[in-house]
Amino acid sequence: MLTELNRSYPTARKEHKCMYCGGTIKVGEKYERQTNKYDNQIYDWVCHLECKEAAGLLNMFDNDMGEGIDGEHFVEYLQEWLFDKHYNDETETYDEGFDPEKLSYHDIVLNVIKELKAK
Ligand SMILES: [Zn+2]
Repeated sequence: MLTELNRSYPTARKEHKCMYCGGTIKVGEKYERQTNKYDNQIYDWVCHLECKEAAGLLNMFDNDMGEGIDGEHFVEYLQEWLFDKHYNDETETYDEGFDPEKLSYHDIVLNVIKELKAK
């Protein structure tokens, strides 16, 4: 069982790697830092605010059995969603702005949020 011990939203003073999308959290960018406990191990989880938001919007936490979502799950789930919603079987291409071969996952996440919030 995952227990969240602390959560903060600091501004990055050095670069960090987002543990969801694997992208860079840039200096000066606000991000999320959680201190979690899992199997008696305490560790920090850092991520983009947008990746956390997208995980929520895509209901990734609904079936996590209280264990949270790791980067591997995040990318897998995102890939499935993109394939489902933005892949065109006839042309075998992704829609503009949703192609994981052309864009970073973080860039795609920004477009996913834009799309889901527009609804
Ligand atoms: Zn990210």
